[in-house]
Amino acid sequence: VWNNCLNFIKDNIQEQAFKTWFEPIKAIELTDNVLYIQVPSKFFYEWLEEHYVKILKSALQKELGPGAKLLYKIEMENAQGNKKPFTEQLPSTHREPVKTQELDVPVQQKNPELKNPFVIPGIRNVKIESQLNSNYSFDNFLEGESNRLARNAGMAVANKPGGTAFNPLMLYGGVGLGKTHLAHAIGVEIKEKFPEKTVLYISAEVFTQQYVDSVRKQTRNDFIYFYQLIDVLIVDDIQFLSGKSGTQDVFFHIFNYLHQNGKQVILTSDKAPVDMQDIEQRLLSRFKWGLSAEIQHPDFETRVNIAKSILFRDGVEMPEDVIEYVAKNVKTNVRELEGAIISLIAQSSFNKREITLELAKSVVEKFVKNVKKDISIDYIQKIVSDYFSLDVETLCSKTRKRHIVQARQLAMFFSKKYTKSSLANIGSLTGDRDHATVLHACKTVDNLLETDKQFKGYFEDINKKLSM
Ligand code: ADP
Ligand code: MG
Repeated sequence: VWNNCLNFIKDNIQEQAFKTWFEPIKAIELTDNVLYIQVPSKFFYEWLEEHYVKILKSALQKELGPGAKLLYKIEMENAQGNKKPFTEQLPSTHREPVKTQELDVPVQQKNPELKNPFVIPGIRNVKIESQLNSNYSFDNFLEGESNRLARNAGMAVANKPGGTAFNPLMLYGGVGLGKTHLAHAIGVEIKEKFPEKTVLYISAEVFTQQYVDSVRKQTRNDFIYFYQLIDVLIVDDIQFLSGKSGTQDVFFHIFNYLHQNGKQVILTSDKAPVDMQDIEQRLLSRFKWGLSAEIQHPDFETRVNIAKSILFRDGVEMPEDVIEYVAKNVKTNVRELEGAIISLIAQSSFNKREITLELAKSVVEKFVKNVKKDISIDYIQKIVSDYFSLDVETLCSKTRKRHIVQARQLAMFFSKKYTKSSLANIGSLTGDRDHATVLHACKTVDNLLETDKQFKGYFEDINKKLSM
C-alpha cells in the first residue's frame, strides 16, 4: 500500500522534495484502514503535516478508500547523541479528532537498525563553535535607563536559559545601540555558567546564506539537524529575513523545535515585532511569545559613562569638560560615540596635541556632520509649518487654499525624501490622505521646481533647514 502511495506522490512532487521528505519514511503497520508510518523526528512530522498533508491524504484515500487514516510514529535519537530514542505517536491533522484509544497503541520497540537520516556520519560529534565574541560581556555593557529592561531580561535569561518566560527574548532598537553586544554578552555568560550547553551566535544573514547553500548542495537535512542540536540559539538582525520566505519557513520550524524542547532563543532586530515588514504572521506571533525589550537611545548620563569606560579601557585621560562636550553632542548612538572618542584619542596622539575642548570641537564637528540625522515626518511637518507660519493642524487640514496646499505638498515631498516611510504611511500621517495623493504631491513639487522660481526658493530654504 505504502509503495503505491509513494509512487503516486513521486509523480506529483519534485524529485528532490520526494527524496528529502518521503524516502526516509518507513511504513510500519496497516490495520484496517489505518496506516502507521515512522518518521525520524518531530520536526520531520511537522514539516510533512504542513507541506504534504494534502498529497498524503489523497494518496492514502486512493489506496484505502475515503476512511483512510494516517498515524505517525516518531523515533529519533536525542540531541546529545545518546542512543536512547524517544518514540512518540502523533496523529495526522487531516483526521477526525484523535480518540485516546488510538493513541494507546503500544509504542514500538526500539529498533537498533533504525538510522536517523538527518544524521550523516561525522556530524554527530562535531563540536559546535559558539561564535561568541568574549569582548562583549555584561561587565562592559553599561547599564542606563535606555537599556535597563533589556539588560536585566538578558541577565535573567543567562541565569536560566530556557527556563524563564523570556523565550524568545527579542532585543530591538536602532543601529549602534548595543543589540549585538548584549546578545553576545548573554551567550558568553551562559557559556560561563553552563559550559555543557551548546550555544550558537549567528547573524540572520549568515543563517540565510547557510540555508541557501544547503538547498543548493542538497544537504538541507544536515542543516536542520545541526540546529536541532543547539541549546541556546542567538540570531542577530532577524529583520534580515524580511521577504525571504524559504528561510523564514525553515527558521519557523527550527524555532518551534527548540522552543518546544525548552531551548532558549534570543533574537535581535532593528524594529519592534509589530513594525517588521515582510515577515510571516506566524513567525511574528512567535516573536511576541516571550519578551520584546527595546534598547533606546542612551541618555546623557549613560553616554558620559560609556565614554569614560572607553577611556579607562584604553588607559587614556581626558578632561571632564571634554568628555561632557563629546557626550552632549554625539547622541545618535553608542557606536558613533565610541568612534568620536577613539578618533579624538587618535588625533591627539598622532599630532602630539593635548586633548582640549577645541580639538574635541573639531573632531565632533566632523563626526556629527557625517551622521545622518533621524528625521521624522512630524519634524518635517513642524519645520514646513513654521516656515510658512502655519500650524501643523492647518497644514494637514482639508483646506484647498493654494499656499497651504503647496506647503502640504512640500511636507509630503520631504517626508518621502528624508524618511523611510511608505507613501501610504506618509499620506495617513498627513491628514489621512492616500498614497496616490502623496505621489501626486511629489510630482507637483518636481514640476513646480522647474517652473516656479519663488517656489524653488521656499524649497531650498526648507531643504537647508532640514539638512542642518
Ligand atoms: P547594534 O547591534 O545595536 O547595532 P552594537 O551592539 O554593535 O549595536 O553596539 C555598537 C557599539 O557600541 C559596540 O562597540 C558596543 O560595544 C557599544 N555599546 C553599545 N551599548 C553599550 C553599552 N551599554 N555599554 C558599553 N558599550 C556599548
Ligand atoms: Mg548589531
